[in-house]
Amino acid sequence: MKSIFTNRIGGYSTGVYESLNLGLHVGDEPTTVNRNRATLTEKYGPIQFMDQIHGNTVVSIKNVQEVLPPCDALVTNQPGIALAVQTADCIPLLLRSEGVVAAVHVGRKGLMNSIALRAVSSMRDLGAREITGLLGPSICGRCYEVSQEVSDEIIAVHPTAKAHTTSGTPSLNLSRALIVELQNIGVDATDVGVCTQENLEYYSYRRSGVTGRQAGIISL
Ligand SMILES: [Zn+2]
Repeated sequence: MKSIFTNRIGGYSTGVYESLNLGLHVGDEPTTVNRNRATLTEKYGPIQFMDQIHGNTVVSIKNVQEVLPPCDALVTNQPGIALAVQTADCIPLLLRSEGVVAAVHVGRKGLMNSIALRAVSSMRDLGAREITGLLGPSICGRCYEVSQEVSDEIIAVHPTAKAHTTSGTPSLNLSRALIVELQNIGVDATDVGVCTQENLEYYSYRRSGVTGRQAGIISL
């Protein structure tokens, strides 16, 4: 089993996308993005990306599909296919078990629509037993400032997401809430603990606006 979280380093993109941008939907040159993706294909084999829409659809992959599935979680029990989730502050969640893996895109909307729980459920449908999770680099609870209204809405459902910025305004700790949510269904998950906004080696939508995307990639 292989898994990795990429950062900005080692690609061909320039300017605000420098350099290992994997997002085709963010305004970068498609030929350059595909060249960046090819460097990963060399290492990890065929990679299935998705057309992420902040929804709650999980797609089971048997073969790499040319047309990207509109979804926010991919699962597979096929060795030789790598699954990728692209992010720039949202949480790239990689789930692993003996015969099934998943890549999940979890932002604020994804936490509210239970995309991670649905991915775990799909893995169990495919025969997964003991599942563990790894949360990749994402914006941390000190940095993810939100309005009081948004904070109230999320905390009503996920009380452990409650956080404050260093200046005392409302913020959200989505990683902590996701770990608790996964624990509740028997999945132990850990966070690599890297904040995308604070760490310049990563793309951060909050920090930069127009920017690239890094990825979490997993295969059996
Ligand atoms: Zn931070």
